[in-house]
Amino acid sequence: MTVARTLLDLDDSYARALPALSVPWTAAPAPEPRLLVLNEALATELGVDADALREPAGVETLLGHELPESATPVAQAYAGHQFGGYQPRLGDGRALLLGELTDTAGQRRDLHLKGSGRTPFARGGDGRAAVGPMLREYAISEAMHALGIPTTRSLAVVATGEEILREQGPLPGAVLCRVAASHLRVGTFQYAAALDASPDGAPGVLRALADHAMDRHHPGADSVLGFYRAVVHAQAELVARWMLVGFVHGVMNTDNTTISGETIDYGPCAFLDVFDPATVFSSIDSGGRYAYGNQPAAAQWNLARLAEALLPLIAAELPDGDTDAAVQAATDVLGGFATEYQRHMADGMAAKLGLSRPDPELVADLLELLRAQRVDFTSFFRALSAGTARDLFTDRAPFEDWAARRDALLPADRAGTAAAMDRVNPVYIPRNHLVEEALTAATTGDLGPFHRLVDVVRDPFTERPGLDAYAATPPDAVPYVTFCGT
Ligand code: AMP
Ligand code: MG
Repeated sequence: MTVARTLLDLDDSYARALPALSVPWTAAPAPEPRLLVLNEALATELGVDADALREPAGVETLLGHELPESATPVAQAYAGHQFGGYQPRLGDGRALLLGELTDTAGQRRDLHLKGSGRTPFARGGDGRAAVGPMLREYAISEAMHALGIPTTRSLAVVATGEEILREQGPLPGAVLCRVAASHLRVGTFQYAAALDASPDGAPGVLRALADHAMDRHHPGADSVLGFYRAVVHAQAELVARWMLVGFVHGVMNTDNTTISGETIDYGPCAFLDVFDPATVFSSIDSGGRYAYGNQPAAAQWNLARLAEALLPLIAAELPDGDTDAAVQAATDVLGGFATEYQRHMADGMAAKLGLSRPDPELVADLLELLRAQRVDFTSFFRALSAGTARDLFTDRAPFEDWAARRDALLPADRAGTAAAMDRVNPVYIPRNHLVEEALTAATTGDLGPFHRLVDVVRDPFTERPGLDAYAATPPDAVPYVTFCGT
């Protein structure tokens, strides 16, 4: 047994509990592995020896090759609505669940690979991932975590030494090692519900999945309806947190919506520069379905699909198994999404503005001002606490009027208020032009800009000298487009 084999203490509770929902599979070989980035802080949190992960055998572990006997790597099955259209069979086409670790806080965490080769779910895909998009997921998920937003994390990116073909031409291949509370998605429930209902399917799999998910994420729920409520609330809070930092996920399909309430799948995501609810970055989202301002509605739509999948279980909990009553009960719970979302938004915006009490009208008027005058969303809140916000407006009079209304509501302790605002309003976010610059350099072998960017966004609230370029609005106003060609 090599050192690496003892590195991870992997469990396979998902594979064991839900064999109908995954396929045992092996990671593809990598001709010339090279560790590009390792998340030492996360390794420590997981109780894994970071130095050992840097050794050749450790890098093989990060590629899914050197695993303990206890591990059963699987490709997970799931379905999903993609841009509104139902796909009965998606699944891990180029990903594997290596297993679960118990971290130093006693939490079960999935260890998962992306870019590890074709699986039975690959359809037409090559099973691969490119260095750029995997480093992108690494940087943005680290930024989200530092911003206090629930998210999957990135443990490492390993270049495989293989060239892969994408629209742009040949690109260096990579594998991302991802850590998540779990990889249970709305789409996992959609898949299980369909399997349960099919004549040659696996009756009981939906119930088993719900038990597994409740146990793992919402142990306080005493019924499937209660579990559903917990997921609705977790998603409402998550999307509010995205909105408060100007995050646009870009591809909020039901297979990219977690049961845990973590952000997952950093594909064509990006942060707003100028504030505009209609902002869409993704090249494939031509209809603007997942535009910044549509995200709450998109999440709610996805949660309605979860209710549909759970319906047989919710009905079974009712005295006479009544489906109509189950639909009504689920609809009522889903109705709570808006209340929860608005509460988190109102509280969050009050904190951003330094107010002791939410003021939805003041917020709505501000957002309209920011939109009309194309003001940078992130810069605005720091400028507001610094007293320099008026400089961001070309037409200052309407802003002065708004600022006077806000002034009247501010607590007496102005310095304390400004300091509290700076604890919730980031100076540094992974701005799109900087992410692009860093990834372009990394793809040609220079990881310097990438490491600098990650260092900056890991401490988003503390303004530091010499980092002005990371806080500035991009120099040009060319619309930013992200590609799913991951
Ligand atoms: P995503 O857009 O990354 O959420 O992926 C949507 C679906 O496409 C999932 O089932 C993925 O596993 C699959 N997929 C994406 N890229 C590839 C690829 N290069 N090879 C195989 N499957 C892929
Ligand atoms: Mg996905």
